[in-house]
Amino acid sequence: MTDICYPKKNTLLSVEQALSEIRHAITAVAENELIDLAKAQDRILSENVISPIDIPPQRNAAMDGYAFAAGDLTAGHSSQLQVIGTSWAGRPYLGPKISGQCVRIFTGAVVPDFADSVIPQEQVEVDGLTVSLTRDWQSYKNIRAAGSDVKQHEVLITAPKKLNARNISLLAAAGITKISVKRRLKIGFFSTGDELVTLGSPLAIGKIYDSNRYLLAGFLADSNHTVCDLGVVGDDQAQLEQTLTDAAKQYDVVISTGGASVGDADFVKQTLEKCGQVNFWKIALKPGKPLAFGKIGDCWFFGLPGNPVAVLVTYDKFVRPALEQLAGAPATRTLRLWARCESHLKKSPGRQEYQRGILRQTDTGELVVNIAGPQDSHQLKIASMANCFIVLDVDNTGVEPGENVIVEPFATVL
Ligand code: AMP
Ligand code: MG
Repeated sequence: MTDICYPKKNTLLSVEQALSEIRHAITAVAENELIDLAKAQDRILSENVISPIDIPPQRNAAMDGYAFAAGDLTAGHSSQLQVIGTSWAGRPYLGPKISGQCVRIFTGAVVPDFADSVIPQEQVEVDGLTVSLTRDWQSYKNIRAAGSDVKQHEVLITAPKKLNARNISLLAAAGITKISVKRRLKIGFFSTGDELVTLGSPLAIGKIYDSNRYLLAGFLADSNHTVCDLGVVGDDQAQLEQTLTDAAKQYDVVISTGGASVGDADFVKQTLEKCGQVNFWKIALKPGKPLAFGKIGDCWFFGLPGNPVAVLVTYDKFVRPALEQLAGAPATRTLRLWARCESHLKKSPGRQEYQRGILRQTDTGELVVNIAGPQDSHQLKIASMANCFIVLDVDNTGVEPGENVIVEPFATVL
């Protein structure tokens, strides 16, 4: 890690530099655990999984139809076959066969050993137990070979991998019941500020409800985390120190909001300096300039700003990737798209801005974005209405309607 208060006074660290510092500092948790496949959604696979079987295990029919040996017939002629039995999915035909016979077969049913072709039922005429193939019948079709999806001993999924429904379904197809995944991260979070009131209590003058803990609780809801809400800590250095030292013994990561700036009531930086190893950064980012990152014992600490929209941005840009890395997930990149901006965007050079926008896709497929509203960092309603960040580079000096801008959608569905 770098020195405290890097970079030097009055210079700002870029978003990329801060993220790269975090990425260099953090290594994935070492411990794994064995879990049921049914509980694997979004967990981080920690060991490659090898298929114990061929998938499919046997040759089977790709269509409903009739299984036959092409050598019994002569291509280019209309031909007749006698039906001697049925191969159902799960109940194969195991009987004998002589030349000129076929087996009624359904999709997924095992193809009898004698057969090398399946003709779809739409391409035959049936009269009792006699089927007549149309003139253009084809041999060697509509059979799925054993192992045509996966071969026995083939790697099904390479670790590390955050498992999705497609991955889990593949493991199920191989009969895998338990898998090794990275253990969950233990995360504690709290808010700081004498003005904060927990929901359910009346608001005295000068007080506000604590919204940041609800934002963090939502962001942290993840099957790779066990999360503990540590409540509100007042603007009191002794109380903060006690909370931090206790939390650092119990959690892999502790996150606070508020008090991270350099005002007289901002104690996060100095408390961290006392309890642990700290980087305090002023980042060329708007909103979200001050950020404390460091370690207390074995516990990583993120001291985020107090303004809710700054929490939104700093969580997304720094905490989320840090937690992914600590959890052992492969690094991800936020999806960025170009969109035509219909709004006038104000911007002064000097900091990278993540303005809150509303992105839509027109009927012709064009991506169009509008500013969601005023952009002060306390304006949670605008952030609540938004569905994307509009990313404006450090040097950008504003955007005129009609210009293209980079957007980062909050979701893949608009
Ligand atoms: P601070 O970083 O502590 O100076 O806080 C900056 C601004 O964010 C102040 O207006 C605080 O009242 C506000 N703020 C701090 N923490 C919270 C919170 N948990 N929920 C809502 N607003 C907060
Ligand atoms: Mg405060």
